[in-house]
Amino acid sequence: MIINGKEISLKIKDKIKKEVDQISKKYNRLPKLVVILVGDDQASQTYVRNKERASQYVGIESQVIRHDSSFSEEALLAEIRQLNQDDTVDGILVQLPLPAHIDEDKVLETIDSNKDVDGFHPDNVAKLFLGQQCPVPCTPKGMMVLLDEINYDLTGKEVVVIGRSHIVGKPVAMLCLQKNATVTIAHSKTKDLPKVCQRADILIVAIGKAKMINSDYIKEGAVVLDVGINRDENNRLCGDVDFDDVKDKVYAITPVPGGIGPMTVTMLLKNTLELFYQHNQ
Ligand code: NAD
Repeated sequence: MIINGKEISLKIKDKIKKEVDQISKKYNRLPKLVVILVGDDQASQTYVRNKERASQYVGIESQVIRHDSSFSEEALLAEIRQLNQDDTVDGILVQLPLPAHIDEDKVLETIDSNKDVDGFHPDNVAKLFLGQQCPVPCTPKGMMVLLDEINYDLTGKEVVVIGRSHIVGKPVAMLCLQKNATVTIAHSKTKDLPKVCQRADILIVAIGKAKMINSDYIKEGAVVLDVGINRDENNRLCGDVDFDDVKDKVYAITPVPGGIGPMTVTMLLKNTLELFYQHNQ
């Protein structure tokens, strides 16, 4: 089975669109997402454009604030504090990575944890760890929705996550644990990675290396979620998984493009909506 993230995300976006339409009738204002982009990183520009387009599609008010790469840390923190105070703003997202002179941790800590639409604020990271309600990071949240969509019960299943980033690997491991899976986090220093992966009923791959994972890493009938976004030798988008090599061995797999990527953007909209409701309780 090829898990069609594009189609599933469109279905969810249409649901959000209807909800936003109801909101516009019931409340005096629309949910609002502010995205701050510092610098001219090409991938970031594309991600921000996608976020803006998706917000417009569902009717969420979106504002993109662009600064050149010399924008100071002090000015950025001041801007965030101002947005924290603005009652018309529900979600604040600072696109990562930031230029080297800006302290990423300081920036994430400055965003009001109640407007932290990415779920990267330390308070929200702690809440996720404790299983409390919080904005859940978009990529991991999208993966859990996809597993839900294919009616996959994680109870007692072996999950192997490759990659230990704060934005993907660690939070998705925590979410799988909450669903009663047995979770292993593998990374660049893991010994005999193929052997570790072969025990996975669900293999989540977030490395950033084109087509690194081939059928030697896969247990027959596994579910494979491929987070990677890379370019192959022909400059075509591809994941961390060698799709053609593994597709006949798996039960289900997400393609790249059209798998996890669209879900990430859609979960950003969902998080914005959830924060809006929280602010209007
Ligand atoms: P990262 O780039 O911060 O870190 C990569 C991780 O992979 C590290 O934890 C490292 O230990 C591990 N790793 C590196 N080489 C390895 C190896 N040879 N064997 C085993 N593990 C290895 O991770 P990230 O920010 O989670 O990004 C990973 C990939 O996912 C990138 O391609 C990124 O573009 C993509 N991504 C996609 C989405 C999406 O929406 N689809 C969202 C976030 C990230």
